[in-house]
Amino acid sequence: MKAEIISIGTELLMGYTVNTNTSVLSQKLLDMGIGVYFQQTVGDNENRLLEAIEIAANRSDLIIFTGGIGPTRDDITKFVIAKYFQTELVEDSDQWNKIQTYFSSQDRKLSETDFFQSLTFKNGTSFFNEVGLACGSAIYMTKDKHNQVIIVLPGPPFEMNHMFDHYAKPYIQSIFQKEDAIESSYLNFYGIGEAQVAKELDDLIIQQTNPTIALYAKPKQVTVRLTANAKTKHEAQQINQNLANDIINRIPSAFLGYGQDYLIEHHVIDLLIENNKSLSIAESLTGGLVLESLTNIEGVSKILKGGFVTYSNQAKIELLNIDPQIIEEKSVVSSQVAIAMAENCLEICHSDLALGFTGVAGPDELEGHPVGQVFIALAKKNEATTVIELNISDKPRSIVRLQSKNEGLNLIREYLK
Ligand code: AMP
Ligand code: MG
Repeated sequence: MKAEIISIGTELLMGYTVNTNTSVLSQKLLDMGIGVYFQQTVGDNENRLLEAIEIAANRSDLIIFTGGIGPTRDDITKFVIAKYFQTELVEDSDQWNKIQTYFSSQDRKLSETDFFQSLTFKNGTSFFNEVGLACGSAIYMTKDKHNQVIIVLPGPPFEMNHMFDHYAKPYIQSIFQKEDAIESSYLNFYGIGEAQVAKELDDLIIQQTNPTIALYAKPKQVTVRLTANAKTKHEAQQINQNLANDIINRIPSAFLGYGQDYLIEHHVIDLLIENNKSLSIAESLTGGLVLESLTNIEGVSKILKGGFVTYSNQAKIELLNIDPQIIEEKSVVSSQVAIAMAENCLEICHSDLALGFTGVAGPDELEGHPVGQVFIALAKKNEATTVIELNISDKPRSIVRLQSKNEGLNLIREYLK
């Protein structure tokens, strides 16, 4: 089966809005065992949208549209699709009620285009929008004994996601009922390059059939995705697990954990909770990135006490009580300052562990220190502080900061492992 995604919006063509919907939808379809063969992006223009539909209609079995179903005059997606497939649009009364209730609660007057958001294909299926105002819509036709399915989803990513998971996915599954179950498993490795992982798994990658193996590289992290199909979900999971065990055994020390979005911060938080240890953070060059990445994760309050963002020398002296003499004698970019930051932070926050970060994010040198020179200290209650020096040369500011964050968290991982 061939799937195609058509995203609609002039802002996407101009590059102002990153087309995340296409990428998210492709992944979700792949997880269902459906391959996306084509992606098109088209502006809010009837003729060009008709051209895009014509192309897709002649080559794809499942066509998913996103965008252009809102209340403005340039939102034409449903009208143009209805025109091409010669079908009518009718009101979805539940959605229309929701729109009316919303407007009266806001004391706003309705216009004709607000009503358009409740339109859906006649003889099709309407997808109620629980988190927005425009309903989605789907219809399927039989063409040369094949089912061709058309699905229209909203543009705002949150609405698109919600509607896909709750309505479009079950709809697709009900039509293209697959005999087999498809399951994916994600294995995450830290501190090892993609090429190295590929080398370790070379024989497995060459002979892969079921499961298939795919590698994804992130900064300092590699994710291995295994996808198996079998008669039952349980069987597919078992096939993945057998290969996962083999893979982890080949690179055990780099293995972080399972999960599609499992980052080192998840792992470190899990480890801290397991070991019943609290943490605080003193940041300079990372400017809050470490605290931000940790507080992004649910449940972090169990282990995170707090921290400081001390960018200037004065802030380090006043907020973290760093002895000005250390800065004077050793420079602010030094192991001594990183140690003092971590140790003082530990005391002030009463935590079991504390990280201190100081370094040069770039693009300019600082006090004779090169860009990418970073010192990170890990202070521990009743134990000696450890410190590392990084030299992340030839990398932009964003990577220097990101890598510093990851390597700091990795110090905790190494310590608690
Ligand atoms: P729409 O009303 O459907 O034209 O889209 C509303 C908003 O959703 C747009 O202004 C974008 O911010 C966002 N959006 C639309 N399409 C996409 C897409 N393919 N990827 C990410 N965001 C999108
Ligand atoms: Mg639009």
